Amino acid sequence: MRLTADGLLVEGGAAESSVRYVPSPNCDARPAGMPIELVVVHNISLPPGEFGGPGIVDLFLNRLRPEAHPYYAGIAQLRVSAHFLIRRDGAMIQFVACAQRAWHAGVSHWRGRERCNDLSIGIELEGTDEMAYEDAQYARLNALLVLLKERYPIVAVTGHADIAPGRKTDPGQAFEWSRIKYQ
Ligand SMILES: [Zn+2]
Repeated sequence: MRLTADGLLVEGGAAESSVRYVPSPNCDARPAGMPIELVVVHNISLPPGEFGGPGIVDLFLNRLRPEAHPYYAGIAQLRVSAHFLIRRDGAMIQFVACAQRAWHAGVSHWRGRERCNDLSIGIELEGTDEMAYEDAQYARLNALLVLLKERYPIVAVTGHADIAPGRKTDPGQAFEWSRIKYQ
């Protein structure tokens, strides 16, 4: 894998062919001159606790049908995204180029600063707070962090719960921070 100048992930060879770019409209420009200093780790599963379906992509592309599942009625109107999604098998989807601001953090603060979307990259792991993440997800996350740290002045990798305490709980107790090589 490698990153283009705009921060799009592209495949490095056949062995890493499981990278797709599915552009989300839910993004905009970062504030001018704003360095990317933070990576925010999230989890998501749609419907909650179910893996592998189209729900996450549909949500980030604003095409989630509220009638498709009882849970969807409450979230279908959201306009959200993340830069990356890492599926249970390690397959990865990019929704927003890193140069752009994805809408993943919401109301948040980090080291005295607010609106973490301005300065961060959001990575969603397909999962829940309680269920152990897959080895393939840690491997892919670590590989991605290496690339991001080579490109951007990242100083921390944190969880959504850490920048939005009381409002968010992801990536949850199941996430093993000790397995992240680059904090
Ligand atoms: Zn989150």
